[in-house]
Amino acid sequence: MPYIIGGILLLCLGLWIASVVITIAAWLFPLFMLIGSSWAFVATCQVLLGRGSRLPVLVTPNDAVNGTAGLREPKGPFPRDWAWPSYLAAQWRRDLIAAWHNGSGFIVRGWRWGFNYGDGSKLKWVSIGITILVWTGVTLGAVLGAVEVVIIGAIALGVGWLGWAAVVGALRGYDHVVRRMRKASGSCPVCYHVMAVPAYRCGGCQVVHHDIRPGVLGAASRTCGCGAKLPTTVLRASRQLEALCQRCDRPLRGGSGAVTDIRVPVFGPVSAGKTRLVHAGLFTLRDVAAAEGVVLDFVDDTSRQAFQHGEQLIASGGDTAKTPAGQLAPAITVRFTRGGPGKSRGQALVHLFDAAGEFYLDRDDNSELEFLDHAGGLVFVVDPFAIGWVRDQLGGALESRLAEAHPANGDPEQVYHVTARRLRDYGVETQRRALAIAVVKADLLTDLPWAADLCAGAVRGWLNTAGLDNLVLAAERDFAEVRYFVVSSVTGTRPGHRLTPAGPFRWLLGRGGFALGRDEKPTTEAV
Ligand SMILES: [Zn+2]
Ligand SMILES: [Zn+2]
Repeated sequence: MPYIIGGILLLCLGLWIASVVITIAAWLFPLFMLIGSSWAFVATCQVLLGRGSRLPVLVTPNDAVNGTAGLREPKGPFPRDWAWPSYLAAQWRRDLIAAWHNGSGFIVRGWRWGFNYGDGSKLKWVSIGITILVWTGVTLGAVLGAVEVVIIGAIALGVGWLGWAAVVGALRGYDHVVRRMRKASGSCPVCYHVMAVPAYRCGGCQVVHHDIRPGVLGAASRTCGCGAKLPTTVLRASRQLEALCQRCDRPLRGGSGAVTDIRVPVFGPVSAGKTRLVHAGLFTLRDVAAAEGVVLDFVDDTSRQAFQHGEQLIASGGDTAKTPAGQLAPAITVRFTRGGPGKSRGQALVHLFDAAGEFYLDRDDNSELEFLDHAGGLVFVVDPFAIGWVRDQLGGALESRLAEAHPANGDPEQVYHVTARRLRDYGVETQRRALAIAVVKADLLTDLPWAADLCAGAVRGWLNTAGLDNLVLAAERDFAEVRYFVVSSVTGTRPGHRLTPAGPFRWLLGRGGFALGRDEKPTTEAV
């Protein structure tokens, strides 16, 4: 009997102690929850500060290149550039995972410790009981804290993303619009590739960045893998970094991609006087530009030498060497700067190149023609001494005039048709291009009555009279706009001369976005 009473008393005491413990635990439950939820914040802060049991895996520039940064696949043939991805683009995800592991790891360890404490002894059950009472509150608090952290994080990230997207969008848009308005692009002087955005070389490590524009690798600036800070817009990059061709990695002319870029190919039969027209045209353009307060200079030595060579040739009246066939002559690039050097606002890079007559006639590969595809306008050179009708007029006493003119090989009409067809076959949209038809060697015709109309500027009518009506018809059908010029690369170089060889180039420059003086529309004849 006393045992039973003792047992009942012990049970009552046990129940009383349990109820007291449970009451205290229940009373302290909010405190446990507070500890748990505080832990969620502490665990997150630890990760953000680079502490804690689980360090986040850093998203490195190598991840960006290898495509393991969790970024969207870039458009185009290149992987992402070797630069640190923006925190808001990639790192936040890894930080979130690390915070989760850091926070949950502690809770799990707590449960494990409590359940294993005093293994093999009676204390174990006490430990299990206390752990359940205390750690349930802490765990519940931690879960609630984690939810709060996610909500606060989402808000912070959302605000951050909005700001970041606004900066990226504004900079990218500004960069794009200004370049578009300037008709800027980069054209490679070696492989003739034309690109809207050039590649840029990091000044620190020489690594090439293929897409410098604002984006996931940086909004206002980006950090190269080597640690160097690089600008993100093409407009700024073109002033600070070396621009390279996206296709062959060779350097582009200075300012490429950020200033107006005009390419003017000059076509015509062999010996038509294309090279001379290019030289005389540039030489005269310099004077025309100077009169407008525009300075012509060079951004590369090859072009400077070519220009100086041409200048000597024009001054001495010597013969121009025939352009070697089989390869495109390198473009002569000149830079026009309005109001003096250093102001890229009023700047243009002009690439003039004469294509050896036979170059386009037997090509299997059209990569070089890309240059033409992006050219706003072309110059077609007509040698009047190659026209049958002119040769007929030049009989008898004027025979010597023909020899003096070194007439072109090949009928202009035929050369035009072959060239135009070739351009269309290669996908060059002639319908969107302008064509300047330049009748050259006019100084040898000025004293001839049957060429008076021509020399007076009525070129189109004169070409029709001379039997090139098919050429005129085809050109006006094939191209968006055709304008006719009569030039002399010999006498026309004098200032203000009406046979100025600058005429066709000046017109195409104006169409390309860099007007030199007022555009004088031809008034004498319909075009
Ligand atoms: Zn290139
Ligand atoms: Zn670098």
